[in-house]
Amino acid sequence: PELALPTRRILLEERKVSVPRGLKGKSKRIVVTGGAGFVGSHLVDRLIERGDSVIVVDNFFTGRKENLLHHFGNPRFELIRHDVVQPILLEVDQIYHLACPASPVHYKFNPTNVMGTLNMLGLAKRVGARFLLTSTSEVYGDPLQHPQAETYWGNVNPIGVRSCYDEGKRTAETLTMDYHRGAGIEVRIARIFNTYGPRMCLDDGRVVSNFVAQALRKEPLTVYGDGKQTRSFQYVSDLVEGLIRLMEGEHVGPFNLGNPGEFTMLELAQVVQETIDSNAKIEFRPNTEDDPHMRKPDISKAKELLRWQPTVSLRDGLPRMVSDFRQRIFGDSNMGTT
Ligand code: NAD
Ligand code: UDP
Ligand code: UDP
Repeated sequence: PELALPTRRILLEERKVSVPRGLKGKSKRIVVTGGAGFVGSHLVDRLIERGDSVIVVDNFFTGRKENLLHHFGNPRFELIRHDVVQPILLEVDQIYHLACPASPVHYKFNPTNVMGTLNMLGLAKRVGARFLLTSTSEVYGDPLQHPQAETYWGNVNPIGVRSCYDEGKRTAETLTMDYHRGAGIEVRIARIFNTYGPRMCLDDGRVVSNFVAQALRKEPLTVYGDGKQTRSFQYVSDLVEGLIRLMEGEHVGPFNLGNPGEFTMLELAQVVQETIDSNAKIEFRPNTEDDPHMRKPDISKAKELLRWQPTVSLRDGLPRMVSDFRQRIFGDSNMGTT
């Protein structure tokens, strides 16, 4: 593909510091798109810890350099500012494709799910890399099956306010399977359910980050609608373990990766009150359009084929993100290293 000049220059520079494949034994060269984001940065931590070489490709749309600062200077780590909507040439063994504006506040602005996924699949095809797509439980839409198993085809409004995310990820899954069947590339698909933890974006409007930040700031917790809608919340370390098992295993998927512990938003507000401030008030707000009424993963498939299941409950996980949020909201020099 024809690349713009600045990108070529970056590629040449970063090739110089790459370690040749043969010199590294079993360690792999892995690209993580969206690696400066919440989930991506935790994944990068695990891969670097394991001894792999990691290239993060991120345009910092919602991600932050601070999430990766602790790897700067490590010769096995590279960070490229690049929008995956544009083609890119890299030589790698595995691609974790996470780049995506992932919250309703952001995702309307961007064709990343289709163009970005296509480019990363093209890259996987050219170099023979294994490609993992981080899809989402949103592919099930406002589900008519509960809990949701991977066999369920979903109930998505194709023209609604959420549809560019839902349909974007559905298209990304389609492209992934087409490249698998048509071009023979090795692919993996994860359908991720609501995930929380340190380094979550403070201001992207997701419920756990909203409630935790509100409780810390002594503001009322904003419950949308009647608060009886449900979600199932997964702690980020459980997700990262699931993603790595999926990539390293032999099954294409799709696999649901989520914690089956289901909570109404009012129950979540209660857990936040118990964890941070028992006096925190609750304020009701109108709900957003097309909000799924319930969501809970059926994880039988991942349990059986990946030998994976979450180990951190909401009550254990929440306190672990509170100290990170406290530091980022009220200021602290250890920012980003949690
Ligand atoms: P995040 O916003 O923290 O991370 C996304 C990262 O992608 C950011 O660093 C952002 O800068 C980067 N990015 C966005 N557009 C880009 C582009 N065009 N080019 C390059 N980089 C780009 O979100 P997250 O929660 O870490 O989500 C990671 C992945 O997991 C996403 O694909 C998301 O759809 C999926 N997912 C997350 C959840 C969740 O609850 N966190 C649930 C389901 C699926
Ligand atoms: N692509 C890329 N890096 C690569 C190889 C391909 O970004 O190393 C992009 C390429 O520019 C194209 C997309 O991936 O837009 C799909 O590539 P593929 O070769 O499958 O399709 P084609 O270029 O033949 O249409
Ligand atoms: N929600 C809420 N208060 C908030 C933000 C969100 O009650 O401050 C609700 C939202 O209406 C939805 C649920 O929490 O029913 C989960 O929303 P989120 O955006 O975190 O995730 P998603 O809808 O993508 O599952």
